[in-house]
Amino acid sequence: MEYIDLKSQYSRYKEEIDKNVIECMTNANFILGKEVELFERNLAEYVGVNHSIGCGSGTDALHLIYMAYDIGRGDAIFCPDMTFIASIEPACLMGAVPVFCDINPSTFNISVESLERQICNVLNEGKLKPKAIVAVDFLGNPADYDELLFIAKKYNLLLIEDAAQATGSSYKGNMCGSLGDVSATSFFPSKPLGCYGDGGAVFTDDREILNTILSLRVHGKGKTKYDNIRLGLNSRLDTVQAAVLSIKLKYLSDEMKKRQMVAQRYREAFNNRFRMQEISCDNMSSYAQFVICTDNKKERDELKQYLSDNSIPSIVYYPNALHNLPVFRDIEIYGEKLENAVKYGECNLGLPFSPFLSTEDQDKVINVVLRYGGRR
Ligand SMILES: *Cc1c(COP(=O)(O)O)cnc(C)c1O
Repeated sequence: MEYIDLKSQYSRYKEEIDKNVIECMTNANFILGKEVELFERNLAEYVGVNHSIGCGSGTDALHLIYMAYDIGRGDAIFCPDMTFIASIEPACLMGAVPVFCDINPSTFNISVESLERQICNVLNEGKLKPKAIVAVDFLGNPADYDELLFIAKKYNLLLIEDAAQATGSSYKGNMCGSLGDVSATSFFPSKPLGCYGDGGAVFTDDREILNTILSLRVHGKGKTKYDNIRLGLNSRLDTVQAAVLSIKLKYLSDEMKKRQMVAQRYREAFNNRFRMQEISCDNMSSYAQFVICTDNKKERDELKQYLSDNSIPSIVYYPNALHNLPVFRDIEIYGEKLENAVKYGECNLGLPFSPFLSTEDQDKVINVVLRYGGRR
């Protein structure tokens, strides 16, 4: 059994994907070919934004956003303490300071109470300028955008949506990727919409930001590639990757439905035994990961070992709250306890999950997990 089964997905779409990829190679138009433009247009339509801009990875998408909004030295960026480092890393590279906020213990997304306390702490200290919130749709579950937009407006902050795990998710009827002032996603192979290497995209309705990012992704080009008007990156979505993604995008809605069905089965089976991410009935999660939480770290580690002994892969998503990472040792946390993020890191365990996980494999996972639970 695979943790995320990309092989069975490929075997379903093989004919179409192979045809598209071979066509790219035949046309030998590898950088920003017409497949990229087509995919960008179709993805923008799917997400419900004016523009999507393909780039080299999800990390680069965030980097391009931070660059386009001139984030840098002296700026405070508010970030959930439980996410992948890439949510905030490019801003730190540009000299901004991360301000970590605790997560809501039920939704595992940024706690708006902790966020507002941290904004006030930064304002009271007076050293940094509060500049942006990066909200993460963690594990595919949309963050609380009504509340976040209210806070962003109140303190005049940019709201960036890191939808790397949430292509296909929706919040009150609107797709993730359309919920921030500007949004980023990733096409890393194991993400809900993944390519066959690295890739990512920025989403925006703003024409000016569109033009800035189109320039930034090609070394800050002006009218042509060789009249550079700013410093940028080399970060494009490969034509071959766009050719793969175009096929997968066609089936994404169908895969989302299948993901809901697998998740529903898991949820019913584990309901009385493990804590799981709370997803509001107004929202839909892509379930980039399906995570259960034990009561403590010892139990989580034992369960992980027990699954492994029974040939079931599992992954801790993620083991560390960001403020505890060695790289962020010296970051000010303003006395905020961040205990929900720490606790989540100690107790979470991701189970095998894919839209095409067979009923037999679902049964096996459920039985082994419950057998462990029953042993206690
Ligand atoms: C995967 C991920 C990223 C980075 O995407 P890459 O394509 O791997 O660079 C950023 N943020 C979150 C929340 C992610 O899960």
